[in-house]
Parts: sequence; structure tokens; C-alpha cells
Amino acid sequence: MPMALTSDQHEFRIGLDLGGSKIEGILMSSEAAELARYRVATPRNDYAATVAAIVDLTARLKQGISVPTRIGIAVPGSISPFTGLMQNANSTWLNGRPFDHDLAVALGTPVRLANDANCFALSEALDGAATDAHIVFGAILGTGCGGGIVTDGRILDGPHGIGGEWGHNPLPWTTPDEYPGPQCWCGRKGCMETWVSGPGMAADHARMTGQMNTAKEIAARAECGDSDARATLSRHADRLARGLAHVVNIIDPDVLVLGGGLSHMSHLYEQLPQLMGPHIFADRSSVVIKAPKWGDASGSRGAARLWDAPASRQ
Ligand SMILES: [Zn+2]
Repeated sequence: MPMALTSDQHEFRIGLDLGGSKIEGILMSSEAAELARYRVATPRNDYAATVAAIVDLTARLKQGISVPTRIGIAVPGSISPFTGLMQNANSTWLNGRPFDHDLAVALGTPVRLANDANCFALSEALDGAATDAHIVFGAILGTGCGGGIVTDGRILDGPHGIGGEWGHNPLPWTTPDEYPGPQCWCGRKGCMETWVSGPGMAADHARMTGQMNTAKEIAARAECGDSDARATLSRHADRLARGLAHVVNIIDPDVLVLGGGLSHMSHLYEQLPQLMGPHIFADRSSVVIKAPKWGDASGSRGAARLWDAPASRQ
């Protein structure tokens, strides 16, 4: 339940995180205190119902508040600056739709949309694991693989609206058996997402062992000493290290923060710096990789602050 709101608390933000299976919404004060949080299921494959679910969730969060609130939404994919339409969402029923326009009409107020990985990186940069870092790269490793860049508290985005997107770049420094790599939903082969996301890890494990397990199950088996599962985790960490080293060689972040379900795998924080070292083009190859402070809440927390810390192009 929302805490009691007094009349002098007049500055509120609402942040929504639209995921493939759930929509999470928070009400936040101007001091970034969380006042309420609700979750609803995402109406899959139904655009109109998705818009309606966001309107309902927003109304619940605004209950008892009579002053205008700023609304930000973390989305899979992004709005194309060229067409104004959604692109690149793995929740594919959003693609090709003027999502921000339709939401603004349905909500009766302008909304700011940003890629969910960008919102994650923003939240962790403003008051999370990377507070006060100059350049932050947030890497989401969950059902997909996304990324966001924040420099000096602002999301770095460009003319295509894809700043930080690394999930559909190819796995770098491939071995012969890794090329061309698995088919990706985006039409390419060997994308980072097909290797380092949870389903990517599970598919690699299945190819090598014939066993169908989720990433979580593989991690649990490795914990119990299962050598096949341990080998899968090793291959995964090595590939993730190569992908992240590629990012470091381009933007040289002060801090990398991992998010998504796989960010709970503690071995990554121990192994990645060492595995990345040989691929980093510098005489001192140390990197700072952190677990998220806010975890799953970072998408909605970052979304709530999109009006305070707009993207570099807004
Ligand atoms: Zn792809």
C-alpha cells in the first residue's frame, strides 16, 4: 500500500518497467524514495491490452495524488527517432507502433520512454552500484541481452536510439567452433544474445550435453559439482568476457554493472576481470565490474527519473 501522502509532497515520479512477462510500476518521491510498487502481468501479443494495463497500473500508483506526476517507462527496444515507431523489442507486438504517442493519449499526459537497459544503467549510475562514476555501462543478462551507457548522469543515445546496444553485435574473437554461431531472432547469427543470455546459455548446454536445463538449473548443478554444468558456465563466462572487453575497448567505462537474472551468478564477478584482461587494449587491463544495487527494481527506478536525467538527445 502507498504510504500516507501529505499535501506538501507535491513532486512525484512514476516509473514503469514493461517486461515480457510483467509490468512493474513504482511511485517515487523527488528524493528517489520509493512510495509504492505494484506488478501486473504483461498482456502478451496484445498491443491495445498492453496500453490499457499501463493506464490501469498508473492509476493505481496515482491513487490519492491530485498533482501532476511525471511518467517514465522502460521498454524493450526503443522508439526510432526517424519514424517515431517502436523498434527492436523482443516483445514483438510493440514493434512498428507509435507507443509513446499512444500512451500519452491514453494517459492524458506526455510520457518519456527509454530502453530498459538504459533505465537500468541510469538507476545504477544515479544512486546505485555505480554512483558518481563518470562513464557507466550497464549490461542486462536475462531472457535477452541489452546494454546502456550513462555518462555524467545522462543516458548516451544517438540518432538511431540504440546507444549501448551490444546484444546483437557478434561474439568477438570467435573460435572456429563458435562461427557463425546460433541463429538469432533478429535474423543474424552469432549475436551476443544467442551466447550470453539465459536462454543462450541453456541452448549452449543443450548442444554440448543433450540436456535441457535453464540457466538457473545449470548454475545449481555446477554448485553441486556437475562437471558438464561447470564447463557450460566456463564457456559462458569466457564469451561474456570477450563481449564486455569489446565494449571496454570502445567506451572505456569506469564501472560495468551487470543486471538481469544472470547477474545473481557470483562467479562472474570473480572471473570476468581476469578473463577480460587479455582482450583489453591497454597496458593496465583492470576493470571494475559490480553487481547491481537495485537489481530488478532498477528498470522502474531509472524510468521514474527519465524527466530528471534526460537522454543526451532529448
Ligand atoms: Zn540478434
